[in-house]
Amino acid sequence: MTVGDLHLPSHTFQIAKSVMRSFVDFIFPPTCLCCNVLMEDGRRKVCESCWSSIESLEQTHPLYLDTKEKLLATGFVNNLVSCYAFTKEGAFQKIAHALKYNGFESLGRELGGRLGARAREWNILFDAVVPVPLHAAKHRERSYNQSERIAEGISRTVGVDVLRRALVRTRHTQSQTTLTHQQRKENMENAFTVGPKYISQINGKSVLLVDDVITTGATISECARALLVAGAANVIAGSAALAQKDSGL
Ligand SMILES: [Zn+2]
Repeated sequence: MTVGDLHLPSHTFQIAKSVMRSFVDFIFPPTCLCCNVLMEDGRRKVCESCWSSIESLEQTHPLYLDTKEKLLATGFVNNLVSCYAFTKEGAFQKIAHALKYNGFESLGRELGGRLGARAREWNILFDAVVPVPLHAAKHRERSYNQSERIAEGISRTVGVDVLRRALVRTRHTQSQTTLTHQQRKENMENAFTVGPKYISQINGKSVLLVDDVITTGATISECARALLVAGAANVIAGSAALAQKDSGL
């Protein structure tokens, strides 16, 4: 027998659901992923005080200016939007870790919502959102691409479509963590392309290209190059956070 068979009035069903949620919250009280404080709303994963502890990026922040200059110098990217400065051991690192390794996909959409709001605030306009693709091997481990979840959050906030599989990797690339900037550039060269069925959706469009964190920009600029080759009018780089090269990312 299902709940539907009981012919319960829908408000009875709603009450039953909320009693069940309170019961689960009583047994496993929802806590903030970063600081363990008890949360009133179990659907939220990080408390407001942890969100506001992350250093916000303004357009005058040295890390923002430095990263933007590097990206624009490649000739493939024409603007940059980002929300936070990555610091080791900070709340952003915990959020990024929970998103990448612990299956908290909703955090990606929440970051995307914040990034979309930032783009709007800075008056940055685009026609489509494209996530940086994940390694095929990582996709098998993780089953989802965190940049795609961020792209979905942006899409929901600004009302622009996500072209989920527009970019694909053409070959395997090694992990970038221990590479110098020059080695990262060579490692990423021609590593991406736009799938044939997406060319018409990219052609002539202004594209927001999204990654979770931008460090040297080697990945994002190679992805931008592939989008321009496919006919994009211009590419704006977007990331939840920016990190210094020596941050260990
Ligand atoms: Zn917290």
